[in-house]
Amino acid sequence: MGVVIIGGGQAGFQTAASLRLEGFEERITLIGDEPHVPYQRPPLSKGFLLGKQEQRHAELRPAAFYETQRITLVTARVAAIDRTSRRVKLDSGEHIEYDTLVLATGARNRMLPYEGVCYLRTLGEATEIRQRLAAAQDVVVIGGGFIGLEVAAAARTLSKQVTVIEGQPRLMARVVAPVVSEYFRGQHENKGVDVLLNATLYGIREREVLLRERTSRPADLVIAGIGVEPNVELARDAGLPVGNGITVDEYLRTPDERIFAIGDCAECPNPFAQMCVRLESVQNAVDQATSAAKAIVGRGAPYAAVPWFWTDQYDIHLQMAGLPVGFDQIVTRGEPESRKFSVFYFRIGKLCAVDSINRPADHLAARKLIGAHTALSPDQASDESFDLKTAS
Ligand code: FAD
Ligand code: NAP
Repeated sequence: MGVVIIGGGQAGFQTAASLRLEGFEERITLIGDEPHVPYQRPPLSKGFLLGKQEQRHAELRPAAFYETQRITLVTARVAAIDRTSRRVKLDSGEHIEYDTLVLATGARNRMLPYEGVCYLRTLGEATEIRQRLAAAQDVVVIGGGFIGLEVAAAARTLSKQVTVIEGQPRLMARVVAPVVSEYFRGQHENKGVDVLLNATLYGIREREVLLRERTSRPADLVIAGIGVEPNVELARDAGLPVGNGITVDEYLRTPDERIFAIGDCAECPNPFAQMCVRLESVQNAVDQATSAAKAIVGRGAPYAAVPWFWTDQYDIHLQMAGLPVGFDQIVTRGEPESRKFSVFYFRIGKLCAVDSINRPADHLAARKLIGAHTALSPDQASDESFDLKTAS
């Protein structure tokens, strides 16, 4: 019966690959409802939209990998989990039995109540947006988070007229400090993007987006990136606890010891947040999958990987390490005007997160410092003559 994994995304793929690396010899079945071999999503809002990357560049492994690794790929949607008989039911009515089940069902986009809006999560959606971008002149992006800003950067690079509509008073407000938000607003505006903050969407009609502030913008393409919701319904219907994600312990295990949940769909105790959190990132999907695979083969350890993220907009590479949860002090290292600077976040005097703009060495140092809980003072962080690698 072996391991059955639901979800053929980053986390599902990595679980299967890591199980084989851990020497797991039994059957592995990876069930995904998208009609492709598992692929990574980051290129979809970056090089793929620009035509610099194609579908094959996004594939995590070629199809032959699954054959040689004896991983059975099943293209189907799982309709239900029967925990008593330990089997999952596909929407075709077929059943697949498991000894261990891994839920890697990811997340889905939040939607607006209007027709004609594009969303970006899947390869299919990215392909449609890429085609429509080629013909568009006026592009309106709703949401100034990662998706919205990466799409805006791509559209502007393709010389489209671009408006970003964000409900919050600043960009990427969920994840970065005001100084970083402000830097990105300036960079987008310098490139000619019309950035509207504190903006409330009022409606969308043919070739026009209406705002509550009695203004409107022409639009022959509207793309929304307004956040995601975790896919928790299978778990909830099977009687597993769900909060802001499927609830798991530090071993990524649900209260049913045969069922794990990982990646965008899972909420897990996180030592860096000092509470349970659900993270949406490649690092989190990969590291949780690796950790769950170890637990399945009996070599589990509490999940404690340092969270990190990145985004690419134009030639700006923003890398984030740690979680800026509950911070009470920030200092910057380097000047925003130099286009290379980092922001260090402290919580009660302890470093908890670092955002680095075009400073990869700071990012790597930050991951080590945060992971090792190394003491670093705000003065040391802001002093460019202080070598971060020497902090102890
Ligand atoms: P997903 O990738 O969502 O995979 C879940 C899979 O499960 C999906 O294929 C879904 O269709 C399938 N599924 C769900 N329910 C069922 C069911 N019942 N039966 C069968 N299959 C099911 N993160 C970064 O860190 N850096 C980036 O630069 C970055 N860029 C991104 C760009 C885009 C356009 C997007 C959309 C995301 C980006 N992310 C980025 C986020 C990152 O891709 C996600 O955090 C990651 O993909 C999560 O992996 P996952 O496997 O948990 O979920
Ligand atoms: P996001 O980071 O949550 O950003 C969405 C933004 O849109 C938020 O600021 C949100 O504000 C705002 N918003 C919501 N409703 C709105 C409305 N009606 N009008 C205007 N603004 C509105 O989510 P996302 O950018 O859509 O990304 C989706 C997923 O893809 C996330 O999991 C993200 O991590 C992932 N992703 C990651 C990367 C990366 O790491 N580089 C890149 C692309 C995508 P509120 O907070 O007030 O709702």
